[in-house]
Amino acid sequence: MGQLLFGAVADDFTGATDLASTLVKAGMRTVQLLGVPRPGFPVPDADAVIVALKSRSNPVAEAVQQSLAALDWLRKAGTRQFYFKYCSTFDSTPQGNIGPVAEALCESLGTDFTVFNPSFPTNKRTVYQGYLFVGDVLLSESSMRHHPLTPMTDPSLVRVLQQQTRGKVGLVPAAVVEAGAEAVRAAIAKLRADGVRHAVLDSLSDRHLAILGEACADLPLVTGGSGMAMGLPANFVRQGLLKTGQGMALPAVAGHAAVLAGSCSAATQAQVANMKQTHDAFEIDPLSIARGEDVVGKALEWAGARLGDRPILLYSTASPDAVSAVQSQLGRAHAGTLVEETLSQIAKGLVARGVRRLVVAGGETSGAVVGALGVEGLMIGAEIDPGVPWTASLGEPRLALALKSGNFGTVDFFTKAFGVYR
Ligand code: ADP
Repeated sequence: MGQLLFGAVADDFTGATDLASTLVKAGMRTVQLLGVPRPGFPVPDADAVIVALKSRSNPVAEAVQQSLAALDWLRKAGTRQFYFKYCSTFDSTPQGNIGPVAEALCESLGTDFTVFNPSFPTNKRTVYQGYLFVGDVLLSESSMRHHPLTPMTDPSLVRVLQQQTRGKVGLVPAAVVEAGAEAVRAAIAKLRADGVRHAVLDSLSDRHLAILGEACADLPLVTGGSGMAMGLPANFVRQGLLKTGQGMALPAVAGHAAVLAGSCSAATQAQVANMKQTHDAFEIDPLSIARGEDVVGKALEWAGARLGDRPILLYSTASPDAVSAVQSQLGRAHAGTLVEETLSQIAKGLVARGVRRLVVAGGETSGAVVGALGVEGLMIGAEIDPGVPWTASLGEPRLALALKSGNFGTVDFFTKAFGVYR
């Protein structure tokens, strides 16, 4: 592949896809890799590559080591600007992983400074005076306060980050951002002169993100959610390195169509109910799996004669009451794993039977299915609905995959998706 304009390390899979979609919308040809690729893996020509890790909740040392391996690969691919992508709710603990990973990346790149900005105004994540808001409440008053792995009880990103880093943390406040890119650059220069190594950036709107993107054009490493990346592609356009509107058309994929739903969130429930009205559907019962019944075999037998251009639906999606009942019998994690494994085996069976176009609902479910299918990378296409692009797998057989986080998509998403592949 040629020179890479933008190379990102992402700390989780769906977050990487979200970033990819942002870059595609800005006209970058974008590839998402699932982990650091094996030597010789043929990565197609692209403007941006995102290496998706699963490092968000790993022990610090592991997250650092994986991120450095990803960085190393991106550097060898000739990356111009590096990015570290984390969650818009800054999911981390007092030990890390955001701070330690960012510091390790800085050190490896030979730079003593980077910026931090998880804001995503479209999704109502904003940063003001260094405080992260989720909707109209502080991070610490949002549901993130009770997150099982990374509870966020302090809304001040300056304090949260300072606990995780050796280098000094500072702030570029909204008033400076309002004043424009030149003012932000001056503020950053002043912070650096004062010995600050990490600057939290305020932003309340996409306009602020555009200003910040312009101000960060020359930083070797930028860190943030997907929002902070919004303003960066324009720098490459200004520098004559990227043509606008170029994008990447996905290769045509022919084969049977299917939808696999393992998400139980409200949007997916409505989407399953909607598709069932007009399409063949097969329900997967976690308790039958737990009893040892051959659910995979039954599902594939059911699917057999029904496979074709018209998508079929296989789902474990159930109401909150039904899910609680299953979880109280099997345990939450065990129920989740059983269903994920079953859906993954079904996905493999469907592909063996000629399915090539697949919509998967659920973040964890998507990760499991893509892993079981041995997918190593994805080309990112146009969005079906906000945050959910069509993708085409790299390698053989070529699959068209739409991987939907639980609460995304309109009610007719499952059927609509197959009409808009590009
Ligand atoms: P979302 O993106 O909506 O959170 P995920 O796939 O990430 O969806 O998570 C859904 C979890 O619920 C998965 O672990 C899945 O295996 C599990 N699950 C799916 N269906 C059921 C069910 N009927 N009962 C219990 N757990 C289920």
